[in-house]
Amino acid sequence: MKISDANWHGANAVHLVRDTVAGRTFEVGTKEHFVMTRLDGTRSATQLQAEYAEHLGRRLDDRGLWQLLGQLGKRRLLEGFDNDDPSSAPASHHTSESDRRSDATEPRNTLLRAEIRLAADPEKLSARLAAVVKPSAHSAVAVLLLFAAGATATVASGGLADRVVQAWMSPVAMVVAVLLLWLSTAVHELAHGVVATLQGGRVAAYGIRWRLPVLIPFCRVEDYLFIPGRRGRIAAALAGPAVHLVAAGACAALWLAGLRTGTVADILALVWAGNVMLTVANLVPLAPLDGYVVLSHATGVLRLTTQSQQYAGVHLRAVVRRSDDEARTTRERYPARLRRIYLGYALLAPLLVLALATGAVFIAAAFIPQSAGPWRYAGPIAAVLLVITGMATTQRNRTETS
Ligand SMILES: [Zn+2]
Repeated sequence: MKISDANWHGANAVHLVRDTVAGRTFEVGTKEHFVMTRLDGTRSATQLQAEYAEHLGRRLDDRGLWQLLGQLGKRRLLEGFDNDDPSSAPASHHTSESDRRSDATEPRNTLLRAEIRLAADPEKLSARLAAVVKPSAHSAVAVLLLFAAGATATVASGGLADRVVQAWMSPVAMVVAVLLLWLSTAVHELAHGVVATLQGGRVAAYGIRWRLPVLIPFCRVEDYLFIPGRRGRIAAALAGPAVHLVAAGACAALWLAGLRTGTVADILALVWAGNVMLTVANLVPLAPLDGYVVLSHATGVLRLTTQSQQYAGVHLRAVVRRSDDEARTTRERYPARLRRIYLGYALLAPLLVLALATGAVFIAAAFIPQSAGPWRYAGPIAAVLLVITGMATTQRNRTETS
C-alpha cells in the first residue's frame, strides 16, 4: 500500500492511497490519513485518540474511531478485515487516469491510435539508467548544466536563427533534423522515467504511441503522486523539457566551436530551433503538457483544470448574486490560498489558449501567399478553432468519465 503526500482536491485536503495488490487508488481525508498512518500495531486505541486530539485539535470518540475503521475496512485498506460484500463498493473509489490506463489490459490498437511497449522490464531499464546518472544527479549540478545550456543557446541565437531560414531549403538537413528532434523527444521521455526512479517513483512502461500520422515516444510513470516530496515530483516533470534545453545548448556549442558551414550547420540550426521550441512548448502550463504537471505539483492541486473551473463558477455566483447563500458558503470552504490558485488558473488558462491560438494563426498566415487576401487568416482561424474544440471535448470526456 502506498500513501501520497497531502494534495488539494476541490476545497479538501486529501491523500491518495493505492492498493498496490488490487491496483486501486482511493482518496482519503486528513482524518483517515492520520489514523491510517498510525495503525502500526503498537498503539492502543486510547493512545491513538490522544494523539488525534493533540494533532487535529478534535476529539475522536470510540464510535467515531470504529466508524472510521469500518470505512477503511470497506475499502479493503485494513489487514484482516475481510469484506467481500459487493454492495459495500467504496463510494469515493477514485481511479485516476494513469491508474485506469495501467489497469487496462493491452490497449486496442487501431489505424488511428496504437501503442507498442518497448521495454520488457521498464523498472529494470530505469534502474540501470538511473545508476549511470546517479553520481552526477545533484540538483546543483543539474541547475548549473541547465543554466549553461540556456546561456549557450541564447548566445548563439543570432547566427543560428539566420541559418534556420536558409536550412529550411535543404531537404537532407530537414530529414536529418526531424529524425534528431524525434530522438530528442524519446530521450525526453526516458529522462522523465530516470528522474522519477531516482526520486523513488516507478516506471510502468516505455513505448511508442501511434497517432496518425505521427509516432510519439512515451514514458508512463506509475504513481507519480506517490513520489515522496514535492521537489522530487517537480524534478521528474521538469526532466523532459530539460532534455530539450540541453540539446539546444549542445547544438549552439557546436556552432560556436566553428561548425558553421555546409549541411552540418544547417542541421545544427534546425535542431537548435526545434529544441528551443520544444523546451518552451512543453513548459506551457496547459494539460497535458509538462508545464501543467509542474504547476499541479507545485501548488499541490489535483485536477487543476476542472477544479479551477468549478471554483470560478462558485466564485462568480457568489459575487454576482449576493443572495446566493449556497454559493457563498461553498466559497467559504476553500482556504484563501486555494481560492487564489484556482481563480488565477481559471483566468490564466483561457488567456494562454487565446495567446497560443493568435500566435498560431499569424505564423500559419505567414506561409500563405499574399494573393489569398483575407483568406490567409480565415483558413488558419478555422483550423485553430477546430483544434481548440477538439481539445476541449477530449478534456471534458476525460474528466467526466473519471
Ligand atoms: Zn514530458
